[in-house]
Amino acid sequence: MASTTKRPRGAPRPTRTCQQCGRPFEWRKKWERDWDQVKFCSDACRRGRVPRRIIDPS
Ligand SMILES: [Zn+2]
Repeated sequence: MASTTKRPRGAPRPTRTCQQCGRPFEWRKKWERDWDQVKFCSDACRRGRVPRRIIDPS
């Protein structure tokens, strides 16, 4: 029995809305240093790319 969730109680992670796709995302470990500057949920959104399928007009 291995618990996959290691989350200390009483430590809620902040959430933010992605400026690109508009989805809420959670604080991540890799952002602990510059969370104030994080505005996008992923590198793709940061680059201005929306992970969305392009609809073929044909
Ligand atoms: Zn996003």
